[in-house]
Amino acid sequence: MNISENIKKFKDDLPDDVTLIAVSKTKTVDDLLEAYEAGHRQFGENKIQEMTDKWEKLPKDIEWHMVGHVQRNKVKYMAPYVSLIHTVDSLKLLKEIHKEADKNGHCIDCLLQIKIAEEDSKYGISAEKAKEILDSEEFKKLDHVKVKGLMGMATFTDDEAQVKKEFEHLKSVFDDFKEQYSNMNILSMGMSGDYKIALDCGSNMLRIGSDIFGERD
Ligand SMILES: *Cc1c(COP(=O)(O)O)cnc(C)c1O
Repeated sequence: MNISENIKKFKDDLPDDVTLIAVSKTKTVDDLLEAYEAGHRQFGENKIQEMTDKWEKLPKDIEWHMVGHVQRNKVKYMAPYVSLIHTVDSLKLLKEIHKEADKNGHCIDCLLQIKIAEEDSKYGISAEKAKEILDSEEFKKLDHVKVKGLMGMATFTDDEAQVKKEFEHLKSVFDDFKEQYSNMNILSMGMSGDYKIALDCGSNMLRIGSDIFGERD
């Protein structure tokens, strides 16, 4: 199977209300172009420098999604063009994104990353912390950022029951947030190894890397 066939297969199989993000980190511009020529326009990267290099070289109708951990001092490099930042985990970071979006004269869409996995290594915040941010007076003043939903990564394990439990938990947090806050309509969960479970649990945005582009070195 090649990249364009993989893209077509995902498009055919996924429900219309599920957005596919092709996670292209470490892959070449030619690999991305192959997906682009198959009609794909949403790409995800985890490093700002790499994403910016690719943005400069590729067609400008691509939507760029930041799915990696974000350092505040690098927000300025992606602020002119980024479409959605999936990994926001602090008010400080939101303030920085707001500042850089303001400089560029637009608004940047974000997701809050909720920690659902058991491993300590995963980034993200608790649902309580996320509410604290959204309820704060400081956040309400940030008119150049829009929090449009939540993102989470399940534990890396073969134990499907564990993964399902974590995704179900995130879905219930999402449903709760949807009721309490406006603009909440994106639930980004599911990668190559666990997207089927994520879909069953109500995901509407998948971040797929190796199932589209092949294994990374
Ligand atoms: C790399 C990455 C993905 C895609 O991983 P695959 O297992 O290759 O599908 C999804 N989400 C995040 C946050 C990633 O860093």
